[in-house]
Amino acid sequence: MAECQEQRTPVRFWRGDQNRGYRFETWAVIVQRRRQWGIGDDDKPRKEYVWVLAPVPSPDVESWPSPVRDALDDDLAKFYDETRELEGEDVESLGQGELEVGLEEVTKSYAFLSSRAAEAERVRRASSTTRKIQDYFRSPSARKAVMQRSGGRCESPNCIGHSDELAVNGEPVLEVDHVRELAQGGKDLPVNMIALCPNCHALKTRGENRDDLRQELICEAWKKHQEMISW
Ligand SMILES: [Zn+2]
Repeated sequence: MAECQEQRTPVRFWRGDQNRGYRFETWAVIVQRRRQWGIGDDDKPRKEYVWVLAPVPSPDVESWPSPVRDALDDDLAKFYDETRELEGEDVESLGQGELEVGLEEVTKSYAFLSSRAAEAERVRRASSTTRKIQDYFRSPSARKAVMQRSGGRCESPNCIGHSDELAVNGEPVLEVDHVRELAQGGKDLPVNMIALCPNCHALKTRGENRDDLRQELICEAWKKHQEMISW
């Protein structure tokens, strides 16, 4: 399936079970694959693989809806491991080199990545046919833009310390998070995202003052975004 994703080869999607047999339902393309933390039947955290598939009318690329093609263009057919920050596994690396480019390049690149993320977000909201699928799609451009914006440092104004030590994959130990959750209508855009060290990320999700912190982070993400695009 990973090969099909890389080569944008559509797959046949069958529905059914062993007793009643299987029925061909639709052609589909693989838009993204990720690994994320979820909760298992035993209520324990577990790693889950997420394959984001979009239905297409036929194997013919020309017949694919433009939101699907846009989503494919925004993704790089990589494997995004959202659990790796916690374990430092080297699965998909942004590459430290990309964070060490000059300021001018960073702002240019940030603007470019932001516009790609904005296009993906526009598509996400406009399309009703792919809405369900797009809800699970995370723009790699948006994440990359935020990582560049952070310069490898925690973006929380309250951060009391962020280790200089890099993860084994050479990336800063940061988690890119949405300040307004997607489920609550937040956008998958750099202006709504922030790079946090594991400490600040934990405070944002389960700290006593998480509501206040969230408000501050909403402002901070907005401010940082404005600074980047006003160059
Ligand atoms: Zn921090």
